[in-house]
Amino acid sequence: MTFYVVDVTGFVDNNNTIIAKELALMPIAYDGNPETWFIKPPYEWEQLDEKTKTYNEFIMYRDGMEWDSGVIEYECIKTMLDQRLKDAKTIFVRHFKVGEWLASYGFHNLCDVSQDSNYYDYNIPICKASACFKHAGSTIMSCATRNVKEILFNVMLRCQ
Ligand SMILES: [Zn+2]
Repeated sequence: MTFYVVDVTGFVDNNNTIIAKELALMPIAYDGNPETWFIKPPYEWEQLDEKTKTYNEFIMYRDGMEWDSGVIEYECIKTMLDQRLKDAKTIFVRHFKVGEWLASYGFHNLCDVSQDSNYYDYNIPICKASACFKHAGSTIMSCATRNVKEILFNVMLRCQ
C-alpha cells in the first residue's frame, strides 16, 4: 500500500484537455526526488485549431517548453503509469485537470490537495528552488517536478 504524488504539465488539445509534456511522480517518502519524464507530442502541431495554438504558444513562453521536445513516446504513458501506480492506495494531485487526466488512464483513487483550505501558497521558497532544468529562459513556469515536491511538502505538513 503506497501513497503517490503525481503531476503533469504541458499543453492542451482542441478540447482543452491536457497534453502531457512533463510527467513527474514519486511515492510519499521522507527523501528522494521525483521520477520525471519528458514526452513527445502525440501528433503534429498543425492538428491544433488556431485558438488552441495561441494558448499553447502562451504556455511555451511561460514554461520554456517546446511542442516538439521530449524523449518518451506518447503511447507509453499508460504503461508507465500502470507500472508505477498499480499498488497506489491514494494518488495526491494538485489540480482537478490533473485528476481528470489520471482518471482518463483509469486512476480514480485521487486526492486533490488544492481543495484543502490549508494548502500552502504556490510560491513557497522550497518549491521555487527545485524546478527542473528543462525550462529555457522562463521565470514564471509550471514545472511538474517542482509541483510534485510542493505537493509532497504540503501532504507531509498536513500529516504532522
Ligand atoms: Zn520541469
